[in-house]
Amino acid sequence: MGQKKALLIDITLCVGCNACQAACKVENKLPEGEEKALSLSAFTALSEHDGLFVRHMCQHCDIPTCVSACPVGALEKRADGPVLYDGDKCIGCRYCMQACPFHIPRYEWKSTRPGIKKCILCAPRLAKGLPTACAEACPTGATKFGDRNDLLIEATNRITADPGKYVAKIYGKTDVGGTSVLYLSPVPFEKLGFDTRLGQEPMPLLSMNALSKVPNVVGVGSVMLAGIWWITNRREDVAREEGSRKQDSNHENRG
Ligand code: SF4
Ligand code: SF4
Ligand code: SF4
Repeated sequence: MGQKKALLIDITLCVGCNACQAACKVENKLPEGEEKALSLSAFTALSEHDGLFVRHMCQHCDIPTCVSACPVGALEKRADGPVLYDGDKCIGCRYCMQACPFHIPRYEWKSTRPGIKKCILCAPRLAKGLPTACAEACPTGATKFGDRNDLLIEATNRITADPGKYVAKIYGKTDVGGTSVLYLSPVPFEKLGFDTRLGQEPMPLLSMNALSKVPNVVGVGSVMLAGIWWITNRREDVAREEGSRKQDSNHENRG
C-alpha cells in the first residue's frame, strides 16, 4: 500500500476558485453546483476569512475518533491515509458524528436506510496511483497531494524559506495526533476558524474494543471517564449542528 498519503493545503496560495469542490463532485458523482458548507452533496467546501480561503473536509486523522466510536467497524483508517466508510456495516447510530472533533460526517436524514457521507481521500484514485481529484484540479498548487513525510518536509521548507509569509505551524502535523490533511497559513490558525484547543494527542479512544486493549483497570476507568466526558460535551455541539442542519433542510424544502 506504500507510504501514507496526505494533502498539503497552503492557504497563502488559495484563490477561492472552488475548482477543488467541482472536481470532488465529479469524482464522487455528486450533484453539480457551488456549495458554501459541507453537506451530503459537498465533501469539501470553502470558507472565507478577510480574503483568505480555507478548505474544509475530512482530515483523515491518524488515530480517528470516528473509527474508535463506531460500534460496528463501519469506519476504517487505512495505512496509506484514507479513512474509509462502509455503508453496508453502518447502523446509523451517528456516534461518529458526535465523536468527530472537526464536525465532518453528514447524515442522510431523509433516507429510509440512512448512513453518513464524507470525503474518502479519493481512495479509488489512490489505488490507481493517481492524486486526489481536488489536488489534480487545483490551478495554483494550493492543494498538493503526496507522501505525508515529503509534504511535511516541503511545508517546513516553505516556512523556513519565507518566515514572514507563514505562521510557524503546520496544522495537522501533530494536532489530534496527526492528520492526513495539513495546512499552512499566513495568519494564526484560530483567526481562520481552526480549533487550536484540540491538543496534540489523539482524542479519547471510545470503543469497547479500544478499552479492552488498555492494560489495567485504572487505565480503563480513566480512558472511559475521559471518553464519557468528551462525548457528553460533543453532544451539545452536535445537537446545535443538527438543529441548524434541520433548519437548512426546512429552508430547502420551502425553497
Ligand atoms: S476528521 Fe472526523 S470524520 Fe475525518 S477521520 Fe477525523 S474523526 Fe474521522
Ligand atoms: S480527496 Fe477526493 S473526496 Fe476528498 S475532497 Fe478531495 S476530491 Fe473530494
Ligand atoms: S482549487 Fe485550489 S485554489 Fe481553487 S479553491 Fe481549491 S484549493 Fe483554493
